[in-house]
Amino acid sequence: MQKALFLDRDGVINVEKDYLYKIDDFEFIDGIFDLCKYYLNEEYIIIVVTNQSGIARNYYTEDDFNKLTRWMSSQFLKEGIKISRVYHCPHHPDISGSCSCRKPKPGMLLEAQKEFNLNLENSLIIGDKERDIEAGLNAGVKESYLFDSAKLVTESAATKIVSKLCQIGDNRC
Ligand SMILES: [Mg+2]
Ligand SMILES: [Zn+2]
Repeated sequence: MQKALFLDRDGVINVEKDYLYKIDDFEFIDGIFDLCKYYLNEEYIIIVVTNQSGIARNYYTEDDFNKLTRWMSSQFLKEGIKISRVYHCPHHPDISGSCSCRKPKPGMLLEAQKEFNLNLENSLIIGDKERDIEAGLNAGVKESYLFDSAKLVTESAATKIVSKLCQIGDNRC
């Protein structure tokens, strides 16, 4: 059965900037391409799962998000990296009510499981927030990495806390 590398977007693929939607503000994090290449080579597919409450808050539109997603995917493709799918949650509980997709809920991962017939137990997730790790655990994803470049986090339910992306997988640092 297919296994997946689940990636959070903001703070893992790109440098976290509040409610980012402009291509000009999108800055890839060091090591993200090498990390993806490593896992593709290990026969994982790559799936992005991202909370985008900026849409519920009307800071940007679905269309803005889709444009940025197409551009981001094309930058990955230039590196020979196929992103199989980008799932996003456009909701915010205070504005659009509760939903089943906003992490830490596992909705997006479960959707991906159905679409790609994934073995979630053998998949892994990388996030920069504890809610990413929890979403993984809630979906039955056992291996997880909390990416904390500022080295501020001391406790996490993740398999490991890392400060560089090259520490995940084989040691490429
Ligand atoms: Mg994030
Ligand atoms: Zn949602």
